[in-house]
Amino acid sequence: MELLTAIKIRRTNHSKIHEVDFGNLEFGKYISDHMLVCDYDNRRPVSTGWQEPMIVPFANLSLSPATMALHYGQTVFEGMKAFRMNDGRINIFRMEKHYDRFARSLERMCMAVPPKEIFIEGLSRLVELDKEWVPAFPGALYLRPFMYASEAKFGVKVSDQYRFIIFTGPVPELYVKPIKVKVETDYIRAAKGGTGFAKCGGNYGGAYYPTQLARQAGYDQVLWTDARENKFIEESGMMNAMFVINDVLITPPLSDSILDGITRHSLLILAADFGYKIEERPISTDELENSFQNKTITEAFGVGTAAVVAPIGVIGINNVDYHLPEYNRENLMNKMKLKLDRIRTGEESDVYGWNYIL
Ligand SMILES: *Cc1c(COP(=O)(O)O)cnc(C)c1O
Repeated sequence: MELLTAIKIRRTNHSKIHEVDFGNLEFGKYISDHMLVCDYDNRRPVSTGWQEPMIVPFANLSLSPATMALHYGQTVFEGMKAFRMNDGRINIFRMEKHYDRFARSLERMCMAVPPKEIFIEGLSRLVELDKEWVPAFPGALYLRPFMYASEAKFGVKVSDQYRFIIFTGPVPELYVKPIKVKVETDYIRAAKGGTGFAKCGGNYGGAYYPTQLARQAGYDQVLWTDARENKFIEESGMMNAMFVINDVLITPPLSDSILDGITRHSLLILAADFGYKIEERPISTDELENSFQNKTITEAFGVGTAAVVAPIGVIGINNVDYHLPEYNRENLMNKMKLKLDRIRTGEESDVYGWNYIL
């Protein structure tokens, strides 16, 4: 591609890779040597729009205290991963689908959308440059594209300047023991017509307080319910929710209050190919309670980029803790995870075209 050679690279003279204990990674602790930076400027009558992307050594930013993102919350991020395959090559998982979601989030927040070539080529070049940072599977290089309103003005208005940045960092596979979740009926994460489907900063800040309360009550996470009736399950933390009831995989349908998870999308395809019946439909807390009483529920889990699947061991509904049966390798969640792992490492052919191999 034309742009491939066009992205200017300023390399670091001080790689920090020797400071990383690859045998003992921690999620979010290490950041790779380089980052991509690309500015957008809509203020000038001439030469407006996206400026030249640059790959530069990872470094702190210098910000005006009046930077609009800090006050009015125009900020959007993505979370994705690059994997080291069995043959040593590196692939970025479902890059275009992440770009499309990034664009949808940005549009909802009235922010400029970086051209796809900058996202795809920028990310590819960046991962290529820092490929030594990609840990052995099942670890991964976590990729964090994000954008914020960079104009320095304190009037409340849509920013005319944005900064698009991508940085990366090695992460371990998150092994999760079954978690305890609380069905949340006092607080909400997102409402119809709101920004729940966008990966914008405010959605997460607003979730901390109820999550903190749930932690104090002995839970790991909350399972959000709908904003109107607090009756239907939405999703959990940074994960979409799935249930297996009567051998049917059930997940709430996408809406403007649910994040369109790429893991969710991928696992639904895998489950269908396994021959499972899938239902994308509202699932009420009453139905969940009944499924425990009738013992028809066999699995509940969160799905997202960080852990692929996070098994749920306990669901608290109206102050009653319901326990899921013990999980084993035969569970659908584990079969799906294994299949996805095998596709990512190249052990199985990527019939879905999910791996963007560098
Ligand atoms: C990112 C995220 C998810 C999971 O999306 P993936 O693309 O699968 O990582 C689910 N819910 C919320 C609220 C999220 O922010």
